[in-house]
Amino acid sequence: MADGEADPRWGFATRALHVGQGPDPTTGAVVQPIHLATTYRQSAVGVHQGFEYSRSGNPTRHALEECLASLESARHCLTFASGLAATTTVLLLLDAGDHVVVNDDVYGGTARLFTRVLSRYGLRFDSADLRDPGALREALTERTRMVWLESPTNPLLRLVDIAAVAEIARERGALTVVDNTFATPVLQNPLALGADIAVHSSTKYLGGHSDVVGGAVMLDDDALAVSLRFHQNAVGAVPSPFDCWLLLRGVKTLSLRVRQQCANALAVARFLEGHAAVQAVHHPGLESHPQHALAVRQMSGGGGMVSFEVDTEERALELLSRLRVFLLAESLGAVESLAEHPGRMTHASIAAEERRRVGVGDGLIRLSVGVEDLDDLVRDLDQALAVSG
Ligand SMILES: *Cc1c(COP(=O)(O)O)cnc(C)c1O
Repeated sequence: MADGEADPRWGFATRALHVGQGPDPTTGAVVQPIHLATTYRQSAVGVHQGFEYSRSGNPTRHALEECLASLESARHCLTFASGLAATTTVLLLLDAGDHVVVNDDVYGGTARLFTRVLSRYGLRFDSADLRDPGALREALTERTRMVWLESPTNPLLRLVDIAAVAEIARERGALTVVDNTFATPVLQNPLALGADIAVHSSTKYLGGHSDVVGGAVMLDDDALAVSLRFHQNAVGAVPSPFDCWLLLRGVKTLSLRVRQQCANALAVARFLEGHAAVQAVHHPGLESHPQHALAVRQMSGGGGMVSFEVDTEERALELLSRLRVFLLAESLGAVESLAEHPGRMTHASIAAEERRRVGVGDGLIRLSVGVEDLDDLVRDLDQALAVSG
């Protein structure tokens, strides 16, 4: 077995540290170097050591792709300059006239890309509430070639039964793509559940330190991987070597971070559930979550995200202004805890009426729970809620 090659017995945490990243063969350095060269010498025309030009392939990116493939237990991984660049490239597998069914509460940037950009090139999109897998049957057309979903969704942390949806899609010859950003490969493996492709915004949990934007696509099918590799190079939305290095550094602690975030988030959710000023709490790890049984079946933890509702927007904004450990900011998945108001921030581009219809009310607050000491997180929320009461 060569350095950096996976031993099939290795567990997740070991793979995160060692796959794709053996010690540097020339120096023994235990950390993957950042390869900045844009071009590689050929010893004769067409004869090289695997790399020609850095858009098409780069050793630091290659190490990251090997590592991330192994974390999703996938045969292939391709990385991109952002989550949306990854999403765009996956959609380029389709042709004009093809139809895509999209879960109705996907990430806002994904919805914007589909409806305002890719629809201009002849792709057709319809949304459906895939909490009911049967809703997919209603939405399918003769030209449906892809089903795109997230689970858990943002910001209400609703779940989709990935195995049930993938089975219906497969009967119709459509690909199932799961944006696995919120769950991470620590908690959920879409490919093992029957999905064809997993997509990540590695800006979030994979990077985990709020310091790099990136995207990744993992899959098993060799022919689809060849096509994606062609489009990755042809379109060129690739990550820089430094970004790849930051991500390799980030994933070393992915399982430690996510396990701690799950424990902190569940405890925060339980605290909020018991607070008189809180009207509802959304977290898949809570027994009160309407799809808790599915969460237990499909995920190995509830994740680090929690959302909750207070009675008015005024109270929500007041509470956010009083938090001191939770930082008021968009994005999620990093070591530090963040809080935000979806109605005014991440989901502000959705018309108020539509937002309320899907359940994103004016009093909703979203938390991305980090790895601080739990007592400090709870005390911070407690004092903010007390004053706003
Ligand atoms: C952030 C996010 C994206 C987009 O990723 P970028 O890295 O910001 O381009 C896609 N899906 C989900 C679920 C996200 O949270």
